[in-house]
Amino acid sequence: MGQVLAACPDVHKWVIMDRDAVERWAEGRVTLLGDACHPKTPYMAQGAAMAIEDAAVLSRCLDGIDRDGVADAFRRFEATRRGRTTRVQETSRANIWLRERTDTSWVYGYDAWSVPLAA
Ligand SMILES: Cc1cc2nc3c(=O)[nH]c(=O)nc-3n(C[C@H](O)[C@H](O)[C@H](O)COP(=O)(O)OP(=O)(O)OC[C@H]3O[C@@H](n4cnc5c(N)ncnc54)[C@H](O)[C@@H]3O)c2cc1C
Repeated sequence: MGQVLAACPDVHKWVIMDRDAVERWAEGRVTLLGDACHPKTPYMAQGAAMAIEDAAVLSRCLDGIDRDGVADAFRRFEATRRGRTTRVQETSRANIWLRERTDTSWVYGYDAWSVPLAA
């Protein structure tokens, strides 16, 4: 570790911010996704993964929708994604991921292109 630090031109400490998910992701024709609505601690390395999954699901919710359907599509997007992103947030916050043998399929087996969309 000392050698790694010695090889760095400079280093700095970086605080880890912990936030709860925001209560509502969308308002009218504006929605948040990714870290903006479900930021998480880094202990599962899932922040970018969740943002990419959000984008895939959001694109499915918007597929074939005209402008009058956008607010409803955003509601559907949030309803489809909130449970999963909250679970990842809470698991990451607890900092228990992979500390013991555990079933990882709920994280890595999720397919954003085929997961059923909420009603
Ligand atoms: C050191 C580190 C390591 C990480 N490792 C992993 C990993 O291994 N795996 C993983 O899945 N995740 C990892 N993450 C988390 C991941 O980087 C984030 O969760 C992810 O980037 C979130 O994507 P996002 O699009 O939601 O937000 P961001 O990537 O933060 O994108 C938001 C963008 O909006 C821009 N922006 C902000 N305000 C405005 C404005 N007013 N107008 C216009 N643009 C604006 C910002 O400049 C930024 O480009 C890591 C993060 C860090 C810091």
